[in-house]
Amino acid sequence: MSHRIHNFSAGPGALPLPVLQQAQRDMTDFQGSGMSIMESSHRWPLYDQVHNEAIADISTLLGLSDDFQLLFMGGGARAQFALVPMNLLAGGSAAYVTTGRWAQGALSEGSKVGGATEIYSSAASNHDHVPQPSELSVDGDAAYLHYTSNNTVYGTQFHHLPEAGDVPLVCDMSSDILSRVIDVDRFALIYAGAQKNMGPSGVTCVIVRRDMLERCPDAIPETFNYRKMAAKNSLLNTPPVFPIYMVGLVAKHLLSLGGLEAVQAVNEHKAELLYRTIDNSGGFFRGHAREDSRSRMNVTFRLPSSELEAEFVANSEAVDMRGLKGHSSVGGLRASIYNSVPLGSVKLLVSFMEDFQASRG
Ligand code: PMP
Repeated sequence: MSHRIHNFSAGPGALPLPVLQQAQRDMTDFQGSGMSIMESSHRWPLYDQVHNEAIADISTLLGLSDDFQLLFMGGGARAQFALVPMNLLAGGSAAYVTTGRWAQGALSEGSKVGGATEIYSSAASNHDHVPQPSELSVDGDAAYLHYTSNNTVYGTQFHHLPEAGDVPLVCDMSSDILSRVIDVDRFALIYAGAQKNMGPSGVTCVIVRRDMLERCPDAIPETFNYRKMAAKNSLLNTPPVFPIYMVGLVAKHLLSLGGLEAVQAVNEHKAELLYRTIDNSGGFFRGHAREDSRSRMNVTFRLPSSELEAEFVANSEAVDMRGLKGHSSVGGLRASIYNSVPLGSVKLLVSFMEDFQASRG
């Protein structure tokens, strides 16, 4: 087998090895077609099957009912920061929960498009937590409530759904979609860039409750319009064929592992190993996130000095671990432990942390 690193990147992140190997086998002759899937017209049955199976398999994983439609779009999650308000504001004003850099980005794009009100911010404590249910008060007239389920940069995550009453709930799930079981029926719209838990970059998944499509104004460009994309099953224009094919392979792989319940159990175990190491370090490692808000996807922590942090990163790279340097707005270290980061890589990181503390603590 070729050389593989222990990949703790915040995204694009690790992909499952069996998926990469399947893609390699398919590369020049996909299913006996004599071509790669990238060379197939998106109007041919060969691609149609890939497209529809990817949709069906993600729908099975998430337990999507017929009330929802899954779209594949371009432009990354950041395009959705603008497309959500363009499609769903309908002249109203939306409520935003600002729990980090990406949530702030969504609010900022929302206010360019129309009415966007920040109803909660964790900025004063450098986004070390998410609000508890009692802390949010949502105006019943809001067009929707937008929040970010997992804050990739700060390492915080919602472990409950915000209470929005009858206000449609919209969520940026870019960094924790398919990592745990969720009750999709509670949402009006979910979006996520694929490149952390779902596949490579280049495609964004939008899951929209069909009744929301009535809000989408005709005046916006067609490829931005959820209703028009939905009517064409995301084939209004040429879709990102190869990323969608990869997302389909990842979905099949997750199903073969036992679906999201099984995936969630492993993810909880991985996160617990790292947080336990932080908590048992007597203050040598200090977690950024408040305990009730700890992310199971991005574990953020500091060491006693920035010199030690730099040494930690350099030494980790010497033993084939990558991506542990934290984002500049938090500093310190960040271990991103998405679905496809093996338990073995996390165990290796734990013993690396223990050894580092024993020699420097
Ligand atoms: N939202 C979240 C939660 C993210 O983590 C990211 C990327 N790290 C984005 C949005 C932006 O995604 P993209 O680069 O696909 O636009």
